Formats: sequence, C-alpha cells, structure tokens
Amino acid sequence: MYWRDMYKREFEAEVVAVDGTKVLLDQTAFNPRGGGLVSDTGTLGGGRVVEVVKEGDDIFHAMQEPAGFRVGDTVHGVLDWDRRYRIMRMHTSAHILSAVVHRETGALITGNQISPDESRVDFNLADFDRGKIQSFVDGVNQAVARELDVRTFFMKREEALATPGYVKLANAMPPNLSELRIVQIGDVDTQADGGVHVANTREIGRVAAVKTENKGKDNRRLYFTVEDATA
Ligand SMILES: [Zn+2]
Repeated sequence: MYWRDMYKREFEAEVVAVDGTKVLLDQTAFNPRGGGLVSDTGTLGGGRVVEVVKEGDDIFHAMQEPAGFRVGDTVHGVLDWDRRYRIMRMHTSAHILSAVVHRETGALITGNQISPDESRVDFNLADFDRGKIQSFVDGVNQAVARELDVRTFFMKREEALATPGYVKLANAMPPNLSELRIVQIGDVDTQADGGVHVANTREIGRVAAVKTENKGKDNRRLYFTVEDATA
C-alpha cells in the first residue's frame, strides 16, 4: 500500500499470521526498515508497532506486546504520521543531495541512514571543506525551490539496468524482480528505489547541514536535517 499511496496513514487489513509479538497482514501501509530508511511506527488494533521489518517477501509488524490477534481478524492500522512524513522529506532530500554532490565532484554515495530527526549520507570523497558543504546544501535547496514533482513508475529490470545512473547498487536489487520501481525527482535524479518520498520537492521545505565526519581516508559523512521553509 505504501507504494500505491505514500500518503496513506490509516488502513484496514486482515491478519495472516501471528508469532508472539510479530504480526503478518494481507496488506500494509507501514514502510519496513530497508534501503537506509528506518521503519515506520504506529499502532495496529490499538497496540504499539515498534518496528516493521521485511523478511523475504513478508513484512512483519513487531508489536510492543503480544496483540492477541487471531488469523482472519480485521485490524485497523495507523502510522505515526509526523515521523513518516519527515522520513519522506529526508529521503527525497538525500536523493537530491547525492545527485548534487555527484554532479559537482563525481563522488558516489557509499551509505546512508534516513531517520526522522537527522539523516546522513556517506560519500567517497577526499575533500569536504565548509565551503564545499555549503555549496552542496545550496544546490539542494535550489532544486527544492524549483518545486519538482516526484514520480514513481515501474520499468523492466533489463531496461533499468541498461540506463546509466538508474541502478546505483546493482547487487542490491533482488535478482528475482522482473520489474524495478523507479523514482524520478524532476530532472535532478532518477533511480531504482523502494522507499517512500514526497510528491513534490516543495514539501521538503529547506535542507540544512548539521555536521560532517571523516570516516576513513576517502569517506566523508554529512549529517543533515529538513526544516520548514518559513523556519
Ligand atoms: Zn532512496
């Protein structure tokens, strides 16, 4: 459901399996941990969902306490929307940031962690001074201010793999998928991606650098956050 409608914050689903605190549903709007994104949290049938994880093709909801659901029960799910919406804003920002850094330096992203309060992106870059960071962040905010639409669509795997830049981490794409989901942020970034994004960059507001760290000789880590444009 989070692929069909990334703005879905409440839903009904049927319980398919229960194992202690783990609950499997026939469908879900909870985005599981993965691709550098922390998972959604929220409630299911009034009980707390503390984490959502993907195991194979299954998405398990980890409850704080055994929920007492039975297979076949219909349950109401509610996402912690403030958290989820910040994850979406952060994630789209991270894509724009990696596109800007790549455009200006040729550096590639080596890792990322998207969290609601503070996110980070790692680059294979030797030199990352204050002036450079500011120019990257300015470049991101210029793209954000252009109010670019974010579009998702599906593409045949071979076609996506053959398009330069679409698949950043070829081995991260499960080989059993015949179609890949593509996320396109205006003319700034297009790549195969499974995560949740905002529909338009205007929703990001403004991106601000928090701090940087050296993680080895050619690895630089940039922490950033998103703020409301009026803040
Ligand atoms: Zn992504």
